[in-house]
Amino acid sequence: MPGGVGRRFSCRRIPRGRAVHFLPRMPIVTATRRLRFNAAHRIHNPALSDEENTRLFGKCNNPNWHGHNYVLEVSVTGPVDATSGYVMDLGALREIVEREVIDQMDHRNLNLEVPFLRGINPTSENIVVACWNALAPHVAPARLSKLRLWETENNYVEYSGDAAV
Ligand SMILES: [Zn+2]
Repeated sequence: MPGGVGRRFSCRRIPRGRAVHFLPRMPIVTATRRLRFNAAHRIHNPALSDEENTRLFGKCNNPNWHGHNYVLEVSVTGPVDATSGYVMDLGALREIVEREVIDQMDHRNLNLEVPFLRGINPTSENIVVACWNALAPHVAPARLSKLRLWETENNYVEYSGDAAV
């Protein structure tokens, strides 16, 4: 093409205007908000016998429930906004996480009272995936990049969506 540009910069080229402009490099940053909730649960698989449940889950299968002080760490990733300097306002992220998951689980029985956990054996693994599915659609334009759920001081699980596995 006459006077054409021999190289392609399709990702960063601004298509309008006579000159070819390039966007400045946009750093991609991950920001994390930590939230806490308390909840009761029983780890139980109704497809198994009582003996198998006891053998598999031990004390966590106690039919009279037990509780945890959970900590949920929510990470979002994206470009740093030129105006705000944020990936995402972490106060806004807190409100989303509280509305979509924390307020539903806090001081509740995870087996009986939480709509988005209905029918799920509430292990930390299953809880974190359910939280992911509840939160992921709500953090745009940032991207939910990781959830870490602490069940005790010593035990946590992480989930980054199936694409990251
Ligand atoms: Zn437990």
